[in-house]
Amino acid sequence: MDSLVIEGCAVATVDGTAAGVITGAGTGTEYDQGHLVLRDGRIAAVGPGPAPAVPGARVIDASGCLATPGLIGSHHHLFQGLTRGHAQDSGLVPWLTALFPLWAHLDAELHGAAARAGLATLALAGCSATADHHYLFPRGGGDLLAAGVGAARQIGLRLHACRGSLDLGAPAGGLPPDTVTGDRDEILAATEQAIDRYHDSGPAAMVRVAVAPSTPFAVTEPLMRESAELARRKGVRLHTHLAETLDERDLCRERSGRTPAEYLESLGWLGDDVWVAHGTHLDLPDIYKLARAGTGVAHCPASNARLGAGIAPVPEFLAAGVPVGLGVDGAAANDNGGLAAEMRQSLLAARARRGAAALTARQALAVATMGSARCLGRQDEIGSLEAGKQADVALWRLDDLGHAAIADPVWALVCGPPARLELLTVAGRPVVEEGQLRTADPVALGRDARAAARALARRARP
Ligand SMILES: [Zn+2]
Repeated sequence: MDSLVIEGCAVATVDGTAAGVITGAGTGTEYDQGHLVLRDGRIAAVGPGPAPAVPGARVIDASGCLATPGLIGSHHHLFQGLTRGHAQDSGLVPWLTALFPLWAHLDAELHGAAARAGLATLALAGCSATADHHYLFPRGGGDLLAAGVGAARQIGLRLHACRGSLDLGAPAGGLPPDTVTGDRDEILAATEQAIDRYHDSGPAAMVRVAVAPSTPFAVTEPLMRESAELARRKGVRLHTHLAETLDERDLCRERSGRTPAEYLESLGWLGDDVWVAHGTHLDLPDIYKLARAGTGVAHCPASNARLGAGIAPVPEFLAAGVPVGLGVDGAAANDNGGLAAEMRQSLLAARARRGAAALTARQALAVATMGSARCLGRQDEIGSLEAGKQADVALWRLDDLGHAAIADPVWALVCGPPARLELLTVAGRPVVEEGQLRTADPVALGRDARAAARALARRARP
């Protein structure tokens, strides 16, 4: 493979985190003027000043830019891209109640259009890898997981396909209609099949699979337990939602007599192979429980704000040593879908709650990179710019109107206006160049997504 040299830019390596657990101010090695050499899908060199001569390499003059690790999404539901703008003023439960009847008509073709558009949106926001927590498998809808994997291969992002499930439908006191809930044995068999078919445990993996029941409140206890057993038998990670809203925390106590983390523990779910979405309403004892177990949290600040769920205690997570990653959450709870904006949102939300020292810009960047890598179990492979790691690099232009007068490039990226993405490489392959997606036509993706959203709405009409 050709070599790629990037030089003349500021570099924020985010190499200062111990195995993805972000402590202190989150500061890694930074260079005012530095270089990167990418070769054979990996970072061959990173350092200050001009790059060494690399015969035959393509050289990019990146002056005026900041190089960071590609951002990593630790929680998403790509299919929801077809139902953005719905239930605009609703909290989680009425929002779910409004959307499930639409989602019940999803199939593989529509999901493919949603996934391609959502992944392209992520790529254009500097994201090189993402989890997709997909728990919706309507009967007769075809192979939705294959559609998501195909979309990631086309757009060129690393995908952690979190094979979700629902087995507690409306007739049994859950929220989802029973056309989208499944039988436990069938779910576990399909999940194992997905692992066998798609999971790549190698360091350069473009696709991995996790076992991901939707939430302890839409999934029965036996399925939660057996999901954990399956994940451990197959050596893959576990993911679910936890304590997103106050109501959910109270319901947990009512039904189980336990706090959310105690409940997870009782199901065999606490461990360093687990990460949960949100944790918005975890109290300190629960936070310490997660920290001791090494269980990570995917922080989704815009979704939590959009649904009025609250503000997750990220400073407390970090102080306790909980691995924290960043996510947009489902496109229909976010409506933006670009991960870069979540860094700003996370900083502002933390400070609105706990004061100006609650979260630094460097911590926000570290959460979006190494923290997410740790949630996905990939802290040794991606998430920082270090020689030997995968060549997943984002290059942001910061010498324009919106940023040029801000001396600190990390602050400019996190808190300034959305920065133009000059380059995104995944495994050294350019996915975005000069602000343009190179792997697909975004106009066509947008058109397909619009047609798919309309088709879904039509199918749901009585
Ligand atoms: Zn979610």
